[in-house]
Amino acid sequence: MKQLAQYKNYNKIAIMGGTFNPIHIGHLVAAEAVRQELGIERVIFIPTGNSPHKENDPMYNEHRYLMAVLATVTNPYFEVSRMEIDRTGKSYTVDTVKELRYMCSKDCEIYFITGADAIEQILTWKDPEELLSICRFVAVTRPGYDKTRLEKTINTLKKKYKGNIVFLEVPALSISSTDIRNRVVANKTIKYLVPDSVENYILKFGLYSTEFALTPRINDINKRLHSVLTPKRFRHTQGVAEEAVRLAERYGADMEKAYYAGLLHDCAKCYTDEEKLSMCEEYNVPLDDVLMKQPDLAHSFLGAALARAEYGVDDEDIINAICYHTTGRANMSLLEKIIYIADYIEPNREFFPGLEEIRQLAYTDIDRAVEYSLRNTIDYNTNKKRIIHPLSITALEYYREENNEK
Ligand code: NAP
Repeated sequence: MKQLAQYKNYNKIAIMGGTFNPIHIGHLVAAEAVRQELGIERVIFIPTGNSPHKENDPMYNEHRYLMAVLATVTNPYFEVSRMEIDRTGKSYTVDTVKELRYMCSKDCEIYFITGADAIEQILTWKDPEELLSICRFVAVTRPGYDKTRLEKTINTLKKKYKGNIVFLEVPALSISSTDIRNRVVANKTIKYLVPDSVENYILKFGLYSTEFALTPRINDINKRLHSVLTPKRFRHTQGVAEEAVRLAERYGADMEKAYYAGLLHDCAKCYTDEEKLSMCEEYNVPLDDVLMKQPDLAHSFLGAALARAEYGVDDEDIINAICYHTTGRANMSLLEKIIYIADYIEPNREFFPGLEEIRQLAYTDIDRAVEYSLRNTIDYNTNKKRIIHPLSITALEYYREENNEK
């Protein structure tokens, strides 16, 4: 019972919710600013458990929790809860707030602090109406955050649910967990972006870098990719490389080649259309009518040329895996199929219809996964009124026949 009455003496408490992978100075500054601004007596950091909207690697749950403990230990107003980490099944904010309500006095005000990006999606969370009636929300924003979208959500909430959301801009939130992970992979310093204890923890357990990522050549590639890709794209390439290694292990392919191909598959993705066209000319990449009309599609062909000329790749199978990772083609090599599928299912991919099916097929029957993905892509792009590349059409015909004959 003592446990249940834990917060009975407080009038205002706040939950600081987030993935915290890893926790950084921006989170700490935000929590402290909200605490002071709103007169909050206790801030409880609750790292997400089994998130309803994305898959967290369970191995990282303990690391995320322990880093939050290390980061908050010196602030007497802060504590960390295992409530969501220890919850079995999907973890919903409404359940967390209700659980906390039992531990508080009847009149205690509960605030939920999290990133504005997350709160924008609140209407898709479980039981938004109930949630908004049992706690107040604080949306902390990064500098330059465009409030228009969230303001629309807030207006709907006010009208429909009488919900209330407070904004607080926190300059220190220009730091992001994604950037910290990317910096670790690219071997760049994270000093002063996270508390020393968290930095030491990341280094001690080798978090965010894989066995392959530690080799000097991969290190150089990552440094270069980090400078030419957006943070989100960089993270995606790490996810593809890691997923490709898992698939290579499953199907007995060369894991190192899979890692290189995954890492480099999008190396040409973040140039503008004009840059892509002029680089295709410079690197002698032939462009057919479809690629001329949709230069973004040329990024895989250009990527293969750049991998050879700029990143020192001379293995034809790696080059082909990069070259055909977007269109696919008939009769792909095992490595080509692995990169095609890894690009689709890597863990950072945001949800889209069919993702779960492809994730399952990927590890049971890669040819069926390829067929399913090709069909999905062709349907999606047809709906978007894009021209489908003939390579994709012949690839789908090829895999449909192959799979029917099995
Ligand atoms: P996320 O992926 O970690 O965060 C989304 C964005 O918000 C990122 O830009 C992140 O920056 C920022 N952010 C997250 N937590 C923050 C915090 N406390 N302070 C400042 N910025 C923060 O998190 P998420 O998965 O969207 O979840 C956020 C919270 O919403 C969690 O508590 C989660 O349980 C809850 N949620 C609930 C439901 C549901 O109940 N159905 C659904 C979705 C989310 P950094 O990467 O730098 O942290």
